[in-house]
Amino acid sequence: MGHEVTRRDMIKAIGIAAITMGLSGIGESQTLGAKPTEGKASAQLGECRLPPLPYTYDALEPSIDKETVAIHHDKHHAGYVNGFNNALKRLAEARLSGDFGLIKHWSKELAFHGSGHVLHSLYWANMGPAGGEAGIEVKDALERSFGGLDQFNSQFVAATVAVEASGWGVLAYEPYMGYLIIQQIEKHQDLALLGAIPLMVCDVWEHAYYIRYQNRRADYVKAFMKIVNWKEVERRLLMIKRIVGYR
Ligand code: MN
Repeated sequence: MGHEVTRRDMIKAIGIAAITMGLSGIGESQTLGAKPTEGKASAQLGECRLPPLPYTYDALEPSIDKETVAIHHDKHHAGYVNGFNNALKRLAEARLSGDFGLIKHWSKELAFHGSGHVLHSLYWANMGPAGGEAGIEVKDALERSFGGLDQFNSQFVAATVAVEASGWGVLAYEPYMGYLIIQQIEKHQDLALLGAIPLMVCDVWEHAYYIRYQNRRADYVKAFMKIVNWKEVERRLLMIKRIVGYR
């Protein structure tokens, strides 16, 4: 049996990597978002760019205020993009020089800023001024995995509100079981369930809500639930299932 399983698992693994870094339309990474080469031979590095917001700063009012969106996107998310690019650059330099003395430091920087970039890109895309209803594919998946939309909402809000300190609530697709799951992510480089692919995420670092909500994280998460862009969630689910498939 080994041969077929291995091949299928390999295709899955490639699919997951492709989704995470590129095909999601968020990667802006090595191939998709690479800056045109500006004289320097830095093509192998790739360079991420801050994806533009898919709406205006005030589009999520009153759930999320204009000032928070502006600072969050233009300063915080931009910081992750810069940090990720810097880590990629330093790691490339280490490969060139053969000096891996700081490998632990730059690997941590890569995970921290890279995860921040990916998660924030998802976050902007999975919200929208209109909110909207879950499509049939998402509804079916929520039904199968949680017993329905209401049950999903309850668990997602509870899990996200209860994230210890800074982190994220995540709705993810777990391709090996073909299930949707809800994850808590503390900070954003720890405790992730490997293999699961995020479909929808809610930022609960304080910078995501403090101006309007101060310590009332639950109010922010409930407001977030009203502006979930379910069309985008459905688009990602269909794309992931197309590439990864069910077991
Ligand atoms: Mn954030």
